[in-house]
Parts: sequence; C-alpha cells; structure tokens
Amino acid sequence: MMAARAVDSPMTPFAQATRGRLQAQVPLAGLTSWRAGGPADWLFQPADLDDLVAALRDHATHAPQMPVTFLGLGSNVLIRDGGLDGLVVHLSGVLNERRRLEGDRLLLGAGLACAQAARFGAREGLVGAEFLAGIPGTVGGALRMNAGAWGGEIWPLVEAVSTVDARGELHTRTPADYTIGYRSVHGPEAEWFTGCVLQLAAGDPDVGTRRIRELLRERSAKQPLGLPSCGSVFRNPEGDHAARLVEAAGLKGLRHGAAEISPKHANFITHDGSARAADIEWLLRHAQDEVQRQFGVHLEPEVRVLGRPGATHEASEGTA
Ligand SMILES: Cc1cc2nc3c(=O)[nH]c(=O)nc-3n(C[C@H](O)[C@H](O)[C@H](O)COP(=O)(O)OP(=O)(O)OC[C@H]3O[C@@H](n4cnc5c(N)ncnc54)[C@H](O)[C@@H]3O)c2cc1C
Repeated sequence: MMAARAVDSPMTPFAQATRGRLQAQVPLAGLTSWRAGGPADWLFQPADLDDLVAALRDHATHAPQMPVTFLGLGSNVLIRDGGLDGLVVHLSGVLNERRRLEGDRLLLGAGLACAQAARFGAREGLVGAEFLAGIPGTVGGALRMNAGAWGGEIWPLVEAVSTVDARGELHTRTPADYTIGYRSVHGPEAEWFTGCVLQLAAGDPDVGTRRIRELLRERSAKQPLGLPSCGSVFRNPEGDHAARLVEAAGLKGLRHGAAEISPKHANFITHDGSARAADIEWLLRHAQDEVQRQFGVHLEPEVRVLGRPGATHEASEGTA
C-alpha cells in the first residue's frame, strides 16, 4: 500500500500522513457495479483498522465539516455525474478478516466480499450464509442494506457488529441498537461498520458448497449479470414485485441515452458501459412516475443515489 504524503491544508481531509492511500479527484465509476458517475473529491483506502481510526480522529479535528461517505464494492449506489463531495472511505479489499469463532460463529471484516464470506462459511461446515454468495457487495455494505436473497437476510444472523464513528471511536453493538427492516437499517448517525460476528449452524461443507452453486446458477438464469447494474433498482412493494409492475407499465426494454430497463429483468437498469449516471437516474425516475401514474404504487428505490448532478443533468431531464 502506498503511503500518502502529509497533507496540511484546510481543504484536505487529514493533517497527518496516513499509512493508507489518499488520492484527490478519483473517478468512482470504476469502483461501482454500475460503472457510471463522477469523481470523489478525496478517496481514502485505509491500510488497516488502526489507520482508519487515526485518520478519522485527524479528520474530526482538521476538517470536521467535510462529509464522509463509506464505499464498499459500490454495488448498491448510483454516484451522480458531478461526483461526491468530501471524503470517500473505500473499504473493499481492506478490513477483510475472516475467522471461525467457537460456537459455530464467524467473525467477518466489513471490507470482505460477501461471496468470500459465504464460501468461507461453507468450507468451515457452517450453514445459513450461502445466500450471500450471489450478493456482489462487501459485508459492510450488506450490513448497511440488510442485504438478502432467496429468503435469507444478513441481520437475522448477526450477533454483534463493530463500528467506528466520525471521531474515530470504536463501538461494539448488537441488533437491538438498530431498527432493521427489508433492505433498510437505521442506527447511530455518522457511524460505520468495520465488521460483524454471525451466528450460523453446524452443517455439511459439501451441502453448503452445493447450495451456493445452485443459487448462483439460478441467479444467472434470471438476471442480466454480464452488464453494469446495481441489481434490483427498487424495493419490492408489500405483496408485489417491482419487476412485475415496471414490466406491466410497458417499460421493459425502454432506453434513455445508453441506459436501458433490462429486457431480461425489469427491475434492473443496465448499459454497455457508456451511460451517464443521469441517463440511469432518468429511467429510474421515469419508472417510478409511470408505476405511480398507472397503478398508484410508489416504488421506493433500493439503490442509494448519491452526489452532485453533472453539468448536463438538467438538459437530460427533459429528453425522452
Ligand atoms: C448484479 C447484482 C445483484 C444484486 N443482488 C442483490 C441481492 O440479491 N440482494 C441484495 O440485498 N442486494 C443485491 N444487490 C445489491 C448490493 O450488492 C447489496 O446492496 C450490497 O449489500 C451492497 O454492498 P456494497 O459493499 O457494494 O455497498 P456499496 O454499494 O458500496 O454501499 C451501499 C450503501 O452502504 C453504505 N456502506 C458501504 N459500506 C459501509 C460500511 N462499512 N458501513 C456503513 N455503511 C456502508 C454506502 O455508503 C451506501 O450507502 C445486487 C447488486 C448487483 C449489482
């Protein structure tokens, strides 16, 4: 990991050098699964947890007004074309510890990919986390979103989480500290996940590994996985499916710029790599408006739309 140079200006996030990597004006498109959107003012990848803690402490005194956003694998965010204000802390690939604990439990770092967590659990002969294999995010992102699939969700497995706050203080919390719902988690403000302990059950490693293979096969049959996307754009409304409603509204296959409502799965918006975030957001809002107008159902985005519109955003709003 490259050491960052010491930076000491009110416009920088830290006064001291870190052991991690700090870069200015970094394009984020390549760090998101939608492969679209603008740059981060500052992108920081800590070397490890101590480095993250030291950096946040420094930031809290040096640039407390500068916003902080954590990013995992960027598989549930739409970063607008104008980019993200302030400091983006990129955890994917760091804080990626995985360890078996006594009592059929797993300790997982927030930067670990969900797929690695699922495979590690299965190899250890622990069952219950196979559904994580097809979720292309980090454990931290899964905790933030209460990610789930095939009837499983991460939070029912959580015994405890570790977090860090904006002052660099570490906390250990339990599910009782959070309000947890379908793809929604609310807890202490300005606090981010650094890891968790999951309670699983003892099982057969071969059964777990087979189950992972089956789930991945089923997923690739139903979803357009080869193209940039964020997975499901909308949460499923109570008793219905967002994909069904978008399709019934006649929007499957609709294009705007280079973005398209997937002909394979109407709750996916995909593109060939050349769409602007504004094109994707236009389709998202259009689908929302049409489903509301035709069926009176409000579709709530599952994806988190972040950042500043690009210079051409207004113009694209008007085009069909
Ligand atoms: C092809 C495809 C299929 C998908 N299938 C599913 C599915 O079956 N089920 C499902 O639930 N989701 C699915 N998703 C969505 C996505 O993978 C999940 O929401 C995932 O949990 C996001 O993790 P991430 O690391 O990519 O988070 P990011 O997209 O990086 O971030 C998502 C949100 O979490 C916040 N965040 C990230 N890391 C942390 C942290 N350490 N602490 C606090 N906040 C943090 C971010 O600020 C942001 O608000 C799919 C996505 C794609 C592209």
